[in-house]
Amino acid sequence: MISISSIRTYMYCPLKLYLQNEMDEEINGDFLLNKTMKELRIDLQDLFQRNLRRIKKDMEIDEIEEQLSKNIDDYIKNSITILENNDSRYDNSLKKEIKDDDEYNLKNVEIANISTSDEINDLASEIKNEAYFNMKILALKSQKAMKLNEKDGNQIVELFFPSSMYSYLIKDHQLELIGTCDKIEIVDGKYFPINVKNSNPPLKGVWDSDAIELVANALLIEQEFDTEVFVGFIDYLKIGDKRPVVMDANLRKGLFKVLNEVKTIINEKIAPNMNVNAQKCNKCDYEEICFQSNNSS
Ligand code: SF4
Repeated sequence: MISISSIRTYMYCPLKLYLQNEMDEEINGDFLLNKTMKELRIDLQDLFQRNLRRIKKDMEIDEIEEQLSKNIDDYIKNSITILENNDSRYDNSLKKEIKDDDEYNLKNVEIANISTSDEINDLASEIKNEAYFNMKILALKSQKAMKLNEKDGNQIVELFFPSSMYSYLIKDHQLELIGTCDKIEIVDGKYFPINVKNSNPPLKGVWDSDAIELVANALLIEQEFDTEVFVGFIDYLKIGDKRPVVMDANLRKGLFKVLNEVKTIINEKIAPNMNVNAQKCNKCDYEEICFQSNNSS
């Protein structure tokens, strides 16, 4: 069974996937922090959705912004306090959550210390800025939608937040694939996979790695719900931009090529060539091992 997280690692660097698979895996603090931040961002979308229901069509923009901002700061503050405290209760629940999540399928999992409070504070202010930016955009869009449709917030909420399923785990034995889709929106009986990204977006379109991950989710959704997925989205939360990806034949072919290569690395344990990319290598957990073994060979 290949996990979508293995595809993600392969797209980052095939050699990284090989090393990760060959060595005892450690979930580090950065991984936990990113996972928690991603969940926090999804929860904030939920809060905006609830706040939008309170808005009336005759409200001025300041009032709309005030309503949309309700509980947002407190929610971010509470979530960050939990992370900073990093008490054993929190640590254990995270460990359990990760071990229960088949997608990660890690062997000999060790949980390292959670990231430093400086990193947490930096991310907290980044999330606050993002939430403020997204609130402003939503305020303007919802004001316009209410005026045009002559409806209150609770009547237009579906325009901005269609019915959705969150963090939906799907396992398919035929495809030998398992993965969690961050969000699946359902509009008029059609399914739209949405992956939420904390990373910087490209100038236009989406990164190839994000598209491959998304089409893997689309395939799983097609099998699970006996449907066809034509379009998915990458939601780059940093700039509040949800970019479409068409699930065309080329992208599907690309995924199957990647899947074969991932299977070769994992099942046949064949090491791919080292392909140095300074930007990626500098951030890679295996940099030291990788360069050492390459210099000695
Ligand atoms: S250090 Fe660079 S080449 Fe080596 S595994 Fe990491 S990303 Fe790949």
